[in-house]
Amino acid sequence: MSERTILVWFRNDLRIHDNEILLEAVRKADKVLPVYCFDPFYFRENPSGNPKTGNLRARFLLESVADLRKNLRNIGGELIVRIGNPAEILLQLAEQYHVNEVYHHREVAHEETEISEQVETALWKIKLNLKHFIGHTLYHKEDLPFPIKDIPDSFAVFKKKVERDSNVRPCIGTPEKISIPLIGDAGELPTLAELGLEEPVGDPRSVNAFRGGETAALSQLDLFFLNEGQANTNKNTRNTTDHSSQLSPWVALGCVSLRHVYWEAISHQHSSSLILDLLWRDYFRFMFKKHGQKFIAAKNNEAEVSALADNQDELFESWKNGETGVPLVDAIIHQLNATGYINNTNRQIAASFLVNDLKVDWVKGAAYFEEKLIDYSPASNWGNWAFIAGVNDARESRYAIAAKPAIQLETKSEFIDTWLPALHIVE
Ligand SMILES: Cc1cc2nc3c(=O)[nH]c(=O)nc-3n(C[C@H](O)[C@H](O)[C@H](O)COP(=O)(O)OP(=O)(O)OC[C@H]3O[C@@H](n4cnc5c(N)ncnc54)[C@H](O)[C@@H]3O)c2cc1C
Repeated sequence: MSERTILVWFRNDLRIHDNEILLEAVRKADKVLPVYCFDPFYFRENPSGNPKTGNLRARFLLESVADLRKNLRNIGGELIVRIGNPAEILLQLAEQYHVNEVYHHREVAHEETEISEQVETALWKIKLNLKHFIGHTLYHKEDLPFPIKDIPDSFAVFKKKVERDSNVRPCIGTPEKISIPLIGDAGELPTLAELGLEEPVGDPRSVNAFRGGETAALSQLDLFFLNEGQANTNKNTRNTTDHSSQLSPWVALGCVSLRHVYWEAISHQHSSSLILDLLWRDYFRFMFKKHGQKFIAAKNNEAEVSALADNQDELFESWKNGETGVPLVDAIIHQLNATGYINNTNRQIAASFLVNDLKVDWVKGAAYFEEKLIDYSPASNWGNWAFIAGVNDARESRYAIAAKPAIQLETKSEFIDTWLPALHIVE
């Protein structure tokens, strides 16, 4: 009997722990072919003429893919890396390596699902199945107490029902060994220049250090609980002032699974705020699943459009350069531009200022965050912006925080930085 080969298509699940597509492939196949594609779609220009993926996020992605390759090699595997359209690349690799099936994790946002549909169509031409797995949410879709179409639009109701009637599944194991076919050319990772991007310039005011990859993600998680524990026993210990984990860049690329974060939080008896925030992430993803693009459909009735400023382009330029003249907003944007990261409250303030004070179309701001944020995640970014812009009816009280008058947005600093514990990564 001939060997069975399964191609594992990595996308936003760049880890070997709690990764169902990898473990399932290892169990079901004689040989596993792990693949990552740098898709030029994500590196083209957005409508404002800026890169869809900025250089800080691209660098974080490159580090994450390199770390995945290293972790796969540690268990006897390899990661094939290619630059190009996944539909063409996966088809070509499937033929070359006599692949029997292709596994991937299902996405929810429009662009991501379109890409998987193209892959599915391409593979189907050679009668190959693209098998979809659910792996990006804390709660498994099948375990929700309601079908997708009946998911409550209110976060408060969603939270109450999910917490009462559903459970988070345990994490699944990490494969100890992986068998791969004989690979001729695994491919090199591209450089930033090959992706059309410039090297980021370090900002001396920034103490934040985000390094991509599963290894760094797991270190960050450990450090977070360590610091939280010390902060509880020793009030002098430095910690993030808002007790946020700053895990989002790794979560966005799946370098750490939400379930792993959840079960670690439970085992450290660190419950409420972190788990609540993980639920926010699930909520936005499920809203996209339920409503599709309608969840972020811009209002385009006459009254809304005429409420926008006439000199939008000029105002948007001043906002994105941190030159609005409102100190806190400018400091927040300086931090975003220099580091690719700002905390949740500051995102709300910057977004609300653009939409409510400057009266600029929120879509411009969301696209700018897409370029700049190293934790960019379609459902979280566009969903949060849509809330602030009020383009859907699901308004939540937490968003009132953003609606401060500009006069209150004072700061003495021209740059804001939140403290991140130094990462010690063993190569
Ligand atoms: C305008 C705007 C745009 C945003 N864009 C993104 C984005 O592109 N990607 C992104 O991951 N988050 C986004 N957020 C949500 C939030 O700001 C970040 O997830 C948060 O700052 C991450 O910090 P943390 O890891 O310390 O969070 P923690 O408080 O430690 O929370 C743990 C995890 O929960 C998730 N989470 C927390 N808050 C939210 C939230 N409000 N919505 C969705 N998920 C949440 C994140 O994955 C986070 O890592 C946005 C918020 C706003 C207001």
